[in-house]
Amino acid sequence: MSLSDVFDSIEVQPWSEVVELHEALLQEQLDYVVARSDFYKAKFAGLRSSVGSLADLANLPFTSKDEIRESLLARPPLGLHVAADLGDVVQIQSSSGTTGMPTFVAATAHDIDTWNSMGARVFYANGFRPKDWVMHAYAMGRGFVGGLVNIEHLQHLGVCVIPLGAESGTERLLGAIDHLKPVAMCATPSMVSHLGSMAPEVLGKPARELSIRKISVGGEPGGGIPAIRQQMEELWGADVRDMMGGADFGSTYWAECDEKDGMHVCSQGALHVELIDPDTLESLPIAEGVSGELVYTTLRRQATPLIRYRMGDIVTVTAMDCSCGRTGYKIKAHGRADDMLIVRGVNVFPAAIKDEVMQFVPDTTGYLKIDLDFAGHSTYEALNMRVEISNTSKKSAKDLALLLEGAIRDKLTVKVVVNIVPEGAIERPGAQKEKLLERVSKA
Ligand SMILES: [Zn+2]
Repeated sequence: MSLSDVFDSIEVQPWSEVVELHEALLQEQLDYVVARSDFYKAKFAGLRSSVGSLADLANLPFTSKDEIRESLLARPPLGLHVAADLGDVVQIQSSSGTTGMPTFVAATAHDIDTWNSMGARVFYANGFRPKDWVMHAYAMGRGFVGGLVNIEHLQHLGVCVIPLGAESGTERLLGAIDHLKPVAMCATPSMVSHLGSMAPEVLGKPARELSIRKISVGGEPGGGIPAIRQQMEELWGADVRDMMGGADFGSTYWAECDEKDGMHVCSQGALHVELIDPDTLESLPIAEGVSGELVYTTLRRQATPLIRYRMGDIVTVTAMDCSCGRTGYKIKAHGRADDMLIVRGVNVFPAAIKDEVMQFVPDTTGYLKIDLDFAGHSTYEALNMRVEISNTSKKSAKDLALLLEGAIRDKLTVKVVVNIVPEGAIERPGAQKEKLLERVSKA
C-alpha cells in the first residue's frame, strides 16, 4: 500500500493509533468546552470528571438539534454553546433547516483547516486528484455547505474547481462542461441525473460523449442506491461514488473508495463517532453488520464544538477493513431518523422506496412524491404516493401502479397506494435537494 493512494497518512494508520489520538484529543476538547462554552459548562456540571477515556463518553448526555436551536435563540448571534471569541470566527454557514429553523454554524480559521482536511480525504477517496478540472454543481445559495464549503475542500485537495453551482441552470452547466471539458463533477444525485438526461436536448449529444469520467455525489441519498448509481453511470459513462456528511461539522466526512461498497469514515483526528440504538439510546459496538444512529463528538473544534451530537443518520457498518488499505470502517447510510416513516409498525426510509421506483425506469421517470396525509411520521393506513409514468411507456397507468405496489410490498413489507401522474407533473429538484416527502391535507 503506497501512501499516494490516500490523501492523508492517517487514513492508513493502524486503527489502534487513531483511537489513541482520539483519547488524548477528547480530554483536551472536554476541558476546552467546560472552560469556554456556557452551554456545556451548565450541561456537564459535575460530569466532566467522570470521563477519563473514550469509553466513559456514555456518561455524558447527548446534544440534540433542538438544544442547539434553543441555544441560538437564547443568546444571539451564535448561541450559548459558542466557545471561541467572536473576533476569531471567520466563517458562518447555515444548515438547511429541513426539520426546523435554520441553524448557524461558526468556524475559526483552525476549524476551516479541520473541515478541509476531512473534505479533501473524501474527494480523494471518491477519485478526484490534484489538477483535475472539477465542475461544481451543488447549490451555492443559502449558506448550504455543499456550496462554498465543498469548494474550500476541493481547493484544499488541489483540483481546479469550476464553481458554477446548481443555480446556473441546466443550459449553462451543460454548456460549460461541453466547452471546458472537466474530467470530474460533484453534485446531488438528482442534479447528476437531471443534467445527464437533458444533455441530448441541450447539446445535441448524450452525456456519455462529454468529458466527465468521475462523479462524486452527496447531499441526498442516491449515490449508495444501486439502481440510481447505475442510471447515473450509464448516462455519463462515468464512475459515480457516494459521500456523506452534514453542516454541523464542515460538509463531508464519509466517502466511498474504489471498491464502492460502503463509505469509509474520513474524520480521523477531527470527529469521534459512536453508534447508538436510536430507541434505547444504548451504545452499540462499531462492528460489521451492526445498524444504529451515528453520534458525533468534535475533537478539536474551536468555534462551535458539539459533544455527543445526534444528527440523526441511521447507518449499517458494512466492513471493518478494505482492499484499498484504508483502516477506517465502512458504512451504508439509510437516511436521517427525521425522514424515517413508520407504516403499520414497519420502519421505512423514503430513499428505499425511491430505490424500488427506480427499478421501473424507463416506464417511470423515477420521480415520485410520498404524500404525508397524517401527522408526524407514523401511520396505520397505506402510504399514498405519486409516481410519474414516462411518455414513452407502453404500460397502462393501472398496470404500472400495480407493479410498483407489489414490488414495494414484497421488498419493503410496506403497503402503498401508487397514484400514477404524467411525466413532468412532479416538480424537479433543480438547485435544491430532492424532497421525497410532501405534507398534504387529508383528501
Ligand atoms: Zn476502501
